[in-house]
Amino acid sequence: MRHRATVDPTRANIAVLVSHEEHRRVPFTCFQCPDAPCQAACPTDAIARDETTGALAVDAEECILCGACVAACPYGNMLLFDPDPAATKCDLCRGNPECAAVCPQRAITVAEGRSTEADIEAALEAARLELGAAPVRRHPG
Ligand code: SF4
Ligand code: SF4
Repeated sequence: MRHRATVDPTRANIAVLVSHEEHRRVPFTCFQCPDAPCQAACPTDAIARDETTGALAVDAEECILCGACVAACPYGNMLLFDPDPAATKCDLCRGNPECAAVCPQRAITVAEGRSTEADIEAALEAARLELGAAPVRRHPG
């Protein structure tokens, strides 16, 4: 919603992954990786970390829509939808994530500090146990 003038869960920077076999649902979004493959893949250095929030964000002025970041993210958390002017990802809404604000169950909380590789592996393992498979969100078509 914040990044697009529409409410469309299929284009949101956070996704709810569904396992029909396990009858489970798991919210899934960017890990703000310490050594982010999306950032490393960008040929124009359009992806930079906000040192205040710790989030990686795309500078739309620098994005040439090449899709390298989409291919590089192992988890499908970089998005590129026509007719968006740039690739998008979760940027923690500049420090006030709206997904956390609207969750009626308060199931999404904002933690202090930066993600480590161990944090990411623990989150992946928890999601694997819930879903019965490695979590990767749908890539945009
Ligand atoms: S978009 Fe993917 S590669 Fe980039 S920081 Fe997020 S999870 Fe890591
Ligand atoms: S789509 Fe944009 S942000 Fe992604 S790698 Fe290409 S130039 Fe960088």
